[in-house]
Amino acid sequence: MFKGILIEKDDAGYRAQLKDIDEAVFHEGDVTIRVNYSTINYKDALAITGKGPVVRRFPMIPGIDLVGTVEHSDSADYKVGDTVVHTGWGVGEVHPGGLAEKARLKSEWLVPLPEAFSPTQAMSIGTAGFTAMLCVMTLERQGVTPDKGEILVTGAAGGVGSVAVSLLTKLGYTVVGVCGDPSETDYIKSLGASEVLDRSEFSSPAKPIAKERWAGAIDVVGSHTLANVCSTMKYRGVVAACGLAGGMDFPSSVAPFILRGVTLAGVDSVMCPRPERLSAWKRLGRDLDASKLEMLSREIGLSEVIPVASDMLEGKLRGRVLVDVSR
Ligand code: NDP
Repeated sequence: MFKGILIEKDDAGYRAQLKDIDEAVFHEGDVTIRVNYSTINYKDALAITGKGPVVRRFPMIPGIDLVGTVEHSDSADYKVGDTVVHTGWGVGEVHPGGLAEKARLKSEWLVPLPEAFSPTQAMSIGTAGFTAMLCVMTLERQGVTPDKGEILVTGAAGGVGSVAVSLLTKLGYTVVGVCGDPSETDYIKSLGASEVLDRSEFSSPAKPIAKERWAGAIDVVGSHTLANVCSTMKYRGVVAACGLAGGMDFPSSVAPFILRGVTLAGVDSVMCPRPERLSAWKRLGRDLDASKLEMLSREIGLSEVIPVASDMLEGKLRGRVLVDVSR
């Protein structure tokens, strides 16, 4: 038995509880891991609160991310004592995840702890930071260089947004953040943003085309915000879209794409192929100012996970939350 958060759904309803869990909960997997840290991502918050259809198999241990030590391995790639990192691959959705003292996962999903980071630093990054790196790499692939102009980051005080602002700044881009809480302006500027705009500027229905400003954008919000971002892109600007914090819809027109040659590039971290995963972690080691990680993350224990998940959906959190699963 081991401690963890368990989500159950039956005649008594949908519920997440801190419990003693039996190893029978595990599915297939060739590596058993003593988890040290996990995190709370937006998707975990939806799973824990039941506010989004994230969990597709019950009972389920939530937690997309984990860092831990290999306890048992039937894989040639990992031996007992190795420190491994996991993000994505449907873990916490269809396969028991990291918000527990133990996990059993497939070796092909794991990456060795990147040399540049301690276990807690790797979790301060987690899925959110990894996705921010994928978004930056998407902008780069589409030719958005720092000389092209300003980059807009929506949800800039959140997990993806905080890491995106930090990365882009270190890479020499001029970054403008968007946030709904004026008290977070200094925080976002301390990560490197030159300016912070109120999210109300992006929340009304978008015009097909508006004044051009952004060479690139990273959007975590979707809905009207993404539509407004697209209509204010510069000629041949690129938007990396990865989130739906404001809604899953996309009430836009084709105008930005056919009149300004704007590119809307989708970013998914969950099924990201292994070679790109490894190169994103390598890039994080090189391009993320590790001193910023402390500023943008806070640590909680397993017993605090359930209330903190609700806070996340209410927009009460900033940056990243890492979870020490031993307390
Ligand atoms: P956080 O909760 O940490 O941050 C989300 C931010 O979005 C908040 O800081 C909030 O900023 C802003 N926000 C929330 N609601 C609204 C709204 N209605 N309108 C405008 N802004 C809003 O979440 P994460 O950064 O971890 O994740 C952000 C999004 O990215 C989520 O939708 C998540 O599912 C998605 N995601 C996708 C991944 C992928 O693989 N594609 C991977 C990781 C995350 P404020 O209230 O200050 O404006």
